[in-house]
Amino acid sequence: MREAGMFDYLIVGAGYAGSVLAERLARVSGKRVLVCDRRSHIAGNAYDHYNDAGVLVHKYGPHIFHTNSREVFEYLSQFTEWRQYEHRVLGSVDGQLLPIPINLDTINRYYGLNLTSFQVEEFLNSIAEKREQIRTSEDVVVNRVGRELYEKFFRNYTRKQWGLDPSELDASVTARVPIRTNRDDRYFADSYQAMPLHGYTRMFEKMLDHPNIKIMLNTDYRDIERIIPYKEMIYTGPVDEFFDFRHGKLPYRSLEFKHETKDTEVYQSAPVVNYPNDNLYTRITEFKYLTGQEHRKTSLVYEYPRAEGDPYYPVPRPENAELYAKYKTLADETQGVHFVGRLATYKYYNMDQVVAQALTTYKKITGERDAANVPQS
Ligand code: FAD
Ligand code: UDP
Repeated sequence: MREAGMFDYLIVGAGYAGSVLAERLARVSGKRVLVCDRRSHIAGNAYDHYNDAGVLVHKYGPHIFHTNSREVFEYLSQFTEWRQYEHRVLGSVDGQLLPIPINLDTINRYYGLNLTSFQVEEFLNSIAEKREQIRTSEDVVVNRVGRELYEKFFRNYTRKQWGLDPSELDASVTARVPIRTNRDDRYFADSYQAMPLHGYTRMFEKMLDHPNIKIMLNTDYRDIERIIPYKEMIYTGPVDEFFDFRHGKLPYRSLEFKHETKDTEVYQSAPVVNYPNDNLYTRITEFKYLTGQEHRKTSLVYEYPRAEGDPYYPVPRPENAELYAKYKTLADETQGVHFVGRLATYKYYNMDQVVAQALTTYKKITGERDAANVPQS
């Protein structure tokens, strides 16, 4: 028999990691779940809302959903309809707005050439600085496109975003942005690319709408963990904080978001414009492109990288991986607590990867086979 008032799970954080697990545990396994978040809202960093002007904006910067996982896409499709959307980005370089990722058009316009896809391979080979080992974020770019494009498109953006030179970051960071020799100017090449039709927050509301799920906002778990009885914890906050920084602080990079609404229908010529070399911000996002909303005003967000502030990005480099490994050992030894998500596992994960990680955790916890519980064709 279940003790009255006892929760099966205390879930710390109402972002993807916490909400997916809450949904699965409550809906499929019939568990009683308490989700708390120290913020005043659900959806974690994916939170969106209508601002004072009535424009749907993403509070924590642009979130574009893309995945190659059919399981993840079908899982989320239980909670939202979608708006087809393929993301495009321009980079402001030497007074021109050029496609990012670098593609055939970027190269032709930057160098004033008229190469074909076939010729551009040869051209890239002639300017590439070949590296024997691809270890860093510098290696991965110069090895493919040489020093000049690296400096114009990657070096300064990376220094601004991370406060580190690309040579100090793992290759995986700049490798997120491919180099193309065709004219494909989409930011992502995944098989599923779409935005939740009514926004992310609405999707999370549906996910968490279950009689077995209780939600406490504006609540740090430390303030309730000794008062509210529960059997196990799912923790999705920063892993070093959980252990009171016992091995020292794990570096997380932060951002300051400056939101602005303009009294004009359209502000810029692309959803996102990157500023690798100018300004203190890295990019400007114009939300209406992402959401498809029609409105006579338009809202933007500028991202200013910061060393201090809310933890947004784990910083992928060897010394941080070493420090994280120590926290991972502690986490593995901590009975009754499951660590899930971008901050708790110190992984530079996109939304779909966090959903997949949470579904895998659910399978591990419960031994359930069909964690997504969605129809297979
Ligand atoms: P979070 O969303 O960070 O949720 C963790 C929650 O735990 C937070 O709400 C926090 O308040 C809460 N919490 C922490 N500690 C405590 C505590 N002690 N007590 C109570 N609550 C606590 N991904 C994409 O796929 N596409 C994109 O375009 C994209 N763009 C991004 C842009 C930016 C600027 C950023 C920062 C991230 C972007 N991401 C994108 C990544 C995406 O935000 C994450 O993958 C995802 O939101 C991580 O979910 P999570 O549940 O692990 O963490
Ligand atoms: N990057 C860059 N120039 C660009 C775009 C990206 O140098 O115009 C590098 C930079 O280091 C950035 C990384 O590639 O942090 C990953 O870019 P992405 O757009 O995936 O970053 P996110 O959306 O996660 O902030």
